[in-house]
Amino acid sequence: MIVERHEFSSDNVAPICPEAWAALQEANAQYAPSYGEDRWTARACDRIREIFETDCDVYFVFTGTAANALALAQLCKSFQSVICHQHSHIQTDECGAPEFFTGGSKLLLVGGADGKIDIGQVKALLARQNELHSHKPGAISIAQATEFGTVYSRDEIAAIADLARKHQLFLHMDGARFANAIASLNCAPKAITWETGVNVLCFGGTKNGAAVGDLVIFFDRKISREFDYRAKQAGQLGSKMRFLAAPWLGLLTGDAWLRNAQYANDAARRLADRLRKEARIESIFPVEANAVFVSMDERLASGLHARGWRFYKFIEPDVYRLMCSWSTTEEEISSLLADLVAIK
Ligand SMILES: *Cc1c(COP(=O)(O)O)cnc(C)c1O
Repeated sequence: MIVERHEFSSDNVAPICPEAWAALQEANAQYAPSYGEDRWTARACDRIREIFETDCDVYFVFTGTAANALALAQLCKSFQSVICHQHSHIQTDECGAPEFFTGGSKLLLVGGADGKIDIGQVKALLARQNELHSHKPGAISIAQATEFGTVYSRDEIAAIADLARKHQLFLHMDGARFANAIASLNCAPKAITWETGVNVLCFGGTKNGAAVGDLVIFFDRKISREFDYRAKQAGQLGSKMRFLAAPWLGLLTGDAWLRNAQYANDAARRLADRLRKEARIESIFPVEANAVFVSMDERLASGLHARGWRFYKFIEPDVYRLMCSWSTTEEEISSLLADLVAIK
């Protein structure tokens, strides 16, 4: 099915996985009620409640950007702020959508090694932000897995959640690669979400093997009040919702979401191992999900690009990201390594 390609640029360049595709086809065989009144939407939401072992409130949106921006808008008033990592997707890759949909919430940036927020810096920031003249902190946002392919441990999340609770802040999790984090930690989804104090999870399906469609999951129904109106106003209520929901059902039934994520994580680990052994190239960050970050000189990177390999520079001046997905093959990894060794 997969034709030859030279892709390590992102996990969203991968095709739709067979399980999601089959579910989409099955949903396409008949007429069905619109705007989420269909049985695929109901079943996907039920399956989410089963997987998370709680009575959560689930919404479908079209992109991760919409999920994050609308979730944060639900948590924060316009004069409140969101504390996040300086390299977070909401800061660097969402074109101001969180600021726009919150109507003015400022993102307060902190640093931290390996793409994880440094809790000491968050504490220092909270100690400073305590009077009327500055934005009032409303939420902390973390990405799980992070933008640098690392994964917060349960204890790290618990520490952040404790701090959030102490300061009456909500905790938002950008889970565009939540599946990869769960596969990596091999834990129950509840263990790093509601049980630990995460209020809202944006759960990504796109990079896991769906065509399109991410979930906004509220673990407290008091917080999700009127979110349906917010999503509709933002153009995120799909009239043919079943075609967002059915692929999710395909992913969630029989745990294809976990197998896809485990496979992608394993591919990244093998890629990192072979880069180290065969090309003496070390990963910049611990490889805990499906991304490998390496530094390459200009000659090597452009040599690979010239041979048709696609991947992005992620951090100036010379850090590149190699992303694996559910469909990355061993042959692709071998072929990349062969080219790399030949150029090097
Ligand atoms: C891909 C991604 C998103 C969502 O991006 P969209 O292109 O809007 O779907 C959100 N957060 C992170 C960390 C991502 O990698």
